Amino acid sequence: MSDASVFTRILRGEIPSEILAQTDNVFAIRDIAPRAPVHLLVIPKTEAYRDVTELAAADPALLTEMVDMARTLASEHADGDFRLVFNTGAGAGQTVFHVHAHVLAGGLDEGSVG
Ligand code: 5GP
Repeated sequence: MSDASVFTRILRGEIPSEILAQTDNVFAIRDIAPRAPVHLLVIPKTEAYRDVTELAAADPALLTEMVDMARTLASEHADGDFRLVFNTGAGAGQTVFHVHAHVLAGGLDEGSVG
């Protein structure tokens, strides 16, 4: 049995999911349970960081790379505007403790933060 996160297993090809974009450090997939017309996930290839607070403290350049990929994807998959969500902690809805950004776009409710 593997201790790898679901995202690492996707990256390895053990779980099917189209890789929409990738760099040496970051990759993107569609969320399996979309909650917006466009709902993508941007994920570091390392699973060293559980959440965005750990990532930001340890490797801000990697966080910047995630934001850059989100911006590019929002332009390719929607009109360029997007919401970036990092659920941080189980109480906030985080279920996968391998840091990832939700990129939500395309017909979002104005004024909503969630
Ligand atoms: P969290 O709740 O941790 O912020 O986000 C985890 C996200 O991963 C959820 O939105 C969930 O739908 C997505 N997810 C979980 N398992 C899979 C999977 O096997 N494939 C894909 N594409 N997304 C997944």
